[in-house]
Amino acid sequence: RAKSEGRGRYCFFEDAMDAALKARRALEEDLRTALREGAVRLDYQPQVDAADRVVGVEALARWSHPTRGEIPPDAFIPLAEDCGLSEEMGRYVLKRALEDSVRWRSLQVGINISARQMKRAGFVDELAELLRETGANPRQLALEITEGALLGDGEGVHETVDRLRQVGFSLVLDDFGVGCSSLSYIRRYPIDRIKIDRSFVAPLGHDADSEAVVAAIVRLAKALSLSVMAKGVETLAQREILKAIGCAQAQGFLFSPPVSADAIDALMAQGGRIRPLAEPDAA
Ligand code: C2E
Ligand code: MG
Ligand code: MG
Repeated sequence: RAKSEGRGRYCFFEDAMDAALKARRALEEDLRTALREGAVRLDYQPQVDAADRVVGVEALARWSHPTRGEIPPDAFIPLAEDCGLSEEMGRYVLKRALEDSVRWRSLQVGINISARQMKRAGFVDELAELLRETGANPRQLALEITEGALLGDGEGVHETVDRLRQVGFSLVLDDFGVGCSSLSYIRRYPIDRIKIDRSFVAPLGHDADSEAVVAAIVRLAKALSLSVMAKGVETLAQREILKAIGCAQAQGFLFSPPVSADAIDALMAQGGRIRPLAEPDAA
């Protein structure tokens, strides 16, 4: 009896796995189509300086699935990488971001580069080719990488980083402080900027320890002549604390969520300044 019950369960799990696998295959197929038809888009989130002037934007990939709605990049980028679409996805994002960057000659454009993409042979050549194709200026482009992109494979990564810098790109270490190697990497690689992770920014104002940690990160960045930006800034209180600590560059919902390229055009046409409003619930 136990045996047949076990077998029944086995079949049940097999069916469930089969269904999950089919759903995943279907989603992969949809993503393939979306890339082919241009249905993945890039939104841009403004980045501001001390005077709330927009000085840059970060490109963030968006996929509105016809039946499943918005699928977050945290989900579909790994999906693309698992189903052999990683090259295509990487190139797609780069091409669009470079094309759009030409519209905003005064803005830095941040582009997220996955670890996989960074480590692929031919990545730098592909970028150089896209620069020629689009007329984009590498000095205007900031490649956002995470620790994972620098991890392991020492020689190859070093060469890639050096070549990217030679071409004129800036390198940004994203999610700074989340992993365990950020400190050794800013010493070993020619990074231009670090972005302090939201997990450090969120508790500012409620937690003195996190303020001390952020202050130490900012001092360290300055000592190493790195520029520093806070991400995930959501409240005026966080903004004020960050400025007092010496981190004036910021990105977050306090200023703007990611918006369309057209909305960035409109913002720049209106003077390119974002006055953060006091939170309605803070009063
Ligand atoms: P990330 O590079 O850390 O991007 C910042 C994420 O924080 C974005 O999420 C953004 O919408 C969100 N965010 C911005 N301001 C705030 C805020 O004030 N509060 C909160 N709670 N969140 C905020 P998103 O767009 O869902 O992207 C998630 C991650 O997916 C990105 O993290 C990046 O690692 C990856 N990603 C997005 N686009 C691309 C891409 O084109 N290529 C690659 N390789 N990765 C991408
Ligand atoms: Mg980023
Ligand atoms: Mg992140």
